[in-house]
Amino acid sequence: MSNGDAVATPGSDALNNSVAGIREEVMNHPSGLFVLFFTEMWERFSYYGMRALLVLFLVAGIADGGWGWERADALILFGWYGSLVYLTPLIGGMIADKFTGCRNAVVIGALLMTLGHGSLALESEWSFYLGLLLLILGNGMFKPNISSMVGDLYKGQEGKKDSAYTIFYMGINAGAFLGIMLCGYVGETVGWHYGFGLAGIFMFFGLLQFYFSKKLFGSIGEKDDPDHLVETADETGHEPEPKVVRERLFVIGVFAFFTIFFWMAFEQAAGSMTIFASDYTQRTLTGTWATVFTWTNFLLTIVPIVIVTAVLYLLIRRTFKYIPLSNALLAFSFLIIWCIVIWKVQNELSADTTEVPASWFGILNSFFIIALAPLFSKFWAGSGKNISGPTKFALGLILLGSGFGFLAYGASSIPAGASTAAVSMIWLVLAYFMHTVGELCLSPVGLSYVNKLSPKRLMSTMFGIWFLSSFVAHLLAGYSGSVIDSFSAEYSMSGFFLLFTAIPVVAGVVMFLLKPTLVRWMHGVH
Ligand code: GLN
Repeated sequence: MSNGDAVATPGSDALNNSVAGIREEVMNHPSGLFVLFFTEMWERFSYYGMRALLVLFLVAGIADGGWGWERADALILFGWYGSLVYLTPLIGGMIADKFTGCRNAVVIGALLMTLGHGSLALESEWSFYLGLLLLILGNGMFKPNISSMVGDLYKGQEGKKDSAYTIFYMGINAGAFLGIMLCGYVGETVGWHYGFGLAGIFMFFGLLQFYFSKKLFGSIGEKDDPDHLVETADETGHEPEPKVVRERLFVIGVFAFFTIFFWMAFEQAAGSMTIFASDYTQRTLTGTWATVFTWTNFLLTIVPIVIVTAVLYLLIRRTFKYIPLSNALLAFSFLIIWCIVIWKVQNELSADTTEVPASWFGILNSFFIIALAPLFSKFWAGSGKNISGPTKFALGLILLGSGFGFLAYGASSIPAGASTAAVSMIWLVLAYFMHTVGELCLSPVGLSYVNKLSPKRLMSTMFGIWFLSSFVAHLLAGYSGSVIDSFSAEYSMSGFFLLFTAIPVVAGVVMFLLKPTLVRWMHGVH
């Protein structure tokens, strides 16, 4: 696919630039990683931003421009949408492996999602459902294939992949963070279709900055990338025996299976943890605490965007001579974001805060990821190099379980059947912190292992299988979370959270016991 830049002919400056462009590094990683970082960032901005708006819009009264749905119905649609976006990656991965290659699939996916957001912004009934369908299909083309491309930048540098995927994951969460914060805010304060439209505009920016960045990728992501003729990524130079390929695929299956337990518990964030935040947590602020919250919130808003802008600056400094148009579009999109952020912050600093909104806790996860991912990335490339994949998975699961342990402890003073309470916010903050640390041990690392263990010709399909676990987990999370009221009436709320402490911890211990077998089946992949 042509990308609008000068066509390179052998020996021309454009070709030399293209080759040099691939070699250009930002923070010791190929600069292409950061193009993928920002593309994924805008995609996740639109995904999470639109998700944050979806329920608010559906339950808002007709007079307020919403559809006046019951909360339960809105949550069911939310659950299905949140799950189905993880079902289609299997098809998108297969299409890329067999027909289009990753790069074209990412472009098609981003285009479908841009149209999907545009369709939602029209706000009629048919366009709304069409929009959701386009988003689900678009994500299927986009998500497995952009994930696949990250690892392909690291030919012969297997040891750096965990670190690379952790940086990529920071991009994911920078998008989630900004999307949740800004789309919901714009939707509620200015108008629903502006919120939906905002998600669409930034998806389009993401698409353009990716489309015009081909010089940093060469043949990476193309269907006929010569490297895809090599069977696996272990650099032995020999075709591995079918048994080795089979066993490695089996390890991906085991990792994906255990990941179901992780996301099932983790995704309580959007359900039972939000109920806990809204009805059982003391969120009223008085005196100095109101001021402390206003300023904490200010920092929480500004720090991540400053960090990401710094990354943007480094990327532009290194790559402007190769991909000026892509850089300019990215810089322009950031300019708009900064304007919206400044407007939001100004409004908030001048308002009197007397209550922490229940939805505020939802951004803690993304905030902690952005703050901690650089440390984890360094650790995985340095002294954490020798920790095996299964151990990282086990740790991730156990840390997640411990987060729920804090909630169970915090909820222990709530009598069975109570419909409100006022326990300290600290338990939710600690839970989100532990969940995030667990997530950094499991989720980006999981993507990295899918890349390292898959035969290249099946790479995107295997990412599709990996995301299938999120599909199952989202459904399970919705159903298990919906019993919070009946369970805590009969037993206790603390018991409910203890269940989510036990499930991941047991899964983590089993993973730890399986470690020797899994390491053997990985056949030298670390
Ligand atoms: N939070 C990550 C993302 O949005 C992982 C989601 C998942 O795999 N369930 O990409």
